[in-house]
Amino acid sequence: MAVDQIRVLLVEDNRGDARLVERRLAGQSSPRFEIQVADRLRTGLRLLATDEFDVALLDLSLPDHPEPGVDILRQAREASPRTPIVVLTGCDDPELASELLRSGAQDYLLKDELDSGLLVRSLLYAIDRQRWDEALRESEERFALAVRGANDGLWDWNLVSETVFFSERWKSIVGLGADDIVDRQQHWLERIHPEDRERVERELHAHLEGLTPRFKSEYRILHADSSFRWVSSRGIAVTNGNGKVLRMAGSMSDITQRKLTEEELLHAALHDALTGLPNRAMFLDRLQIAIAQSKRRTDYIFAVLFLDLDRFKTINDSLGHAAGDRLLVSIARRLEAAIRPSDRVARLGGDEFAILADGIEDLGDSTRIANRLLCELAVPYELDGHAVYSSASIGIATSVTGYDRADDLIRDADNAMYRAKSLGKSRYQLFDPEMHARAMALLELETDLRRAIDQDELCVYYQPIIDLENGAIEGFEALVRWNHPTRGLIFPGEFVPLAEETGLILNIGRWVLADSCRQMAMWQRRFPSEHPLTLSVNVSSRELVQRDLVQEIAGVLAQSAIVHGSLRLEITESAIMDNPDEAIAKLRKLKDLAVQLHLDDFGTGYSSLSYLHRLPTDTLKIDRSFVHELREGGQGGEIIGTIVALARKLGIRVSAEGIETSEQMRSVRDLACDFGQGFFFSAAVEPGAAERLLSAGSMQVH
Ligand code: C2E
Ligand code: MG
Ligand code: MG
Repeated sequence: MAVDQIRVLLVEDNRGDARLVERRLAGQSSPRFEIQVADRLRTGLRLLATDEFDVALLDLSLPDHPEPGVDILRQAREASPRTPIVVLTGCDDPELASELLRSGAQDYLLKDELDSGLLVRSLLYAIDRQRWDEALRESEERFALAVRGANDGLWDWNLVSETVFFSERWKSIVGLGADDIVDRQQHWLERIHPEDRERVERELHAHLEGLTPRFKSEYRILHADSSFRWVSSRGIAVTNGNGKVLRMAGSMSDITQRKLTEEELLHAALHDALTGLPNRAMFLDRLQIAIAQSKRRTDYIFAVLFLDLDRFKTINDSLGHAAGDRLLVSIARRLEAAIRPSDRVARLGGDEFAILADGIEDLGDSTRIANRLLCELAVPYELDGHAVYSSASIGIATSVTGYDRADDLIRDADNAMYRAKSLGKSRYQLFDPEMHARAMALLELETDLRRAIDQDELCVYYQPIIDLENGAIEGFEALVRWNHPTRGLIFPGEFVPLAEETGLILNIGRWVLADSCRQMAMWQRRFPSEHPLTLSVNVSSRELVQRDLVQEIAGVLAQSAIVHGSLRLEITESAIMDNPDEAIAKLRKLKDLAVQLHLDDFGTGYSSLSYLHRLPTDTLKIDRSFVHELREGGQGGEIIGTIVALARKLGIRVSAEGIETSEQMRSVRDLACDFGQGFFFSAAVEPGAAERLLSAGSMQVH
């Protein structure tokens, strides 16, 4: 206590006694005592109430109070509850002493025994103790408030007497009244849910043995209404000097609501809201466990069946989303019914489902399951009074391939599913590692191709198209090539299909068109003629459905100074048949720009004649396979003859591609094809070589 002045109120009517006290304290210098004397209780009480004293010395017999004793102390305490009071008395009465202490006196001094040291110590201790008492009371109050605020039940377990105190709130959490007697540890433990009890006891002992810094446990506890409530208990053990636990106390709070919310959230996070099936996250989790198990036990095999509905979009579009949703739910129920209890089915998203076939005997099992599922799904569904037929394509990957990651397994099953789709749908396909290698190579190619476009690795080769009547070079077909930094020259067959799939064809096509138009404009200037050179550029189906194709071509035409009417687009029949009405509308607009249209690879697709006459076609390009058959004396001649006859009727010209020999050249010419193209004349060549062909003039056609 770092105070150098202490204010003492001495309530004492006997002047002699008062002087005695003053003398005893006078010699003190640190701290110094400043004493104020009140010779009546009334004065003392007033001073206590109005002034601030560090401590009061109180005589217990005062003239203005009828009875000496405890009541005087009580009145003084009431006047100033926070001032520590030391009682002065003339008689040595242990009973009175203990009553005084119980009533709040800090100390009790006999007037006869007053020596300076004792008095000073007593006053200083009284001040100190009072402070501690107050701090303690405050902290107890704070604690009690906190507990009340937290709505926690309390327990206090005395390990020596083997009794437990349970607070009222504790009892009410488990549905007991305040008067119900529960005072044994057993009363608590036996209410714990059988599935949790062993764990809670383990956690309790771990703490009692000093293995954990505190006891903390969440478990279910039996309520008087026979339901179980989730509670959270915390506690801490108190040990004696030898480390023996004497007591353990703590709290218990009801967390049922939180647990329910947690469970709901967890369920929502791991399940698909529409069908209630596990979702992708949960499926991946299960799969990872299966993978771990297959690594431990070599005889454990499992399969993942990746299932994608075949025409779901059509159903959704025609019957509406609500019906589509109901179909998905019905399918989910069928799948659940079709699998074995140990298998899992999940909805991965959209119209994709996955099944984990657990612990199968061999690969045959997985295909048998797939067959069964296909049969189950083939039974028509009843939706809004319609019988709806649905089928699925299934890809299967098995643990036999050896996986570390669930993602990889799903990816491969997904790949196999795509393969099943491309093989005709409503079937299953087993994943094989070769498929994976192919997928990887494609991925690499795609990355490379993106770079190629940015870094100008693409170039255009030109193949002359010959007028079969006089051998003149009528124009060129622009054919894209890829100058790969390590693999050398790559032909379009290797990357155009991928470019179409990924949409990169749009960038490629745009570039080829602009570059070849620029080149052609230059040639048209250098080699002027009555019939300007023509340029044929290939357009894939993906480019055809592209929204702004017409505008884009108009833009290139305007910029490149290529002679009006000398551009031709080569489009395959199948590209048009993908979406004939839209294609025809676009092609008509292109005709307005004086762009000619050539039907490429004619005869290989499945164009219907009814469309053919609606198409604004200028030329049919007979596919090279028919030209090849000419050499082998096959049916090529007849087919070409028929095509030419048809074309004449429609007022369309005919071009033959893939002419490799003079014999083929003569045949197509005799069959009245207008134009020819092929290695016999020239392969597709670089611009420089193409220019040399132009300088050399016409080619031999007779
Ligand atoms: P296509 O339009 O039918 O082009 C003709 C293909 O036949 C070219 O192959 C050409 O080099 C090849 N060819 C020419 N003469 C002969 C011959 O006498 N015998 C044989 N066996 N083949 C011959 P290429 O350049 O590999 O192009 C293949 C396909 O790639 C083209 O078929 C076309 O569909 C597509 N393609 C090429 N460049 C582009 C392009 O810039 N854009 C788009 N969308 N597709 C392109
Ligand atoms: Mg072509
Ligand atoms: Mg062709």
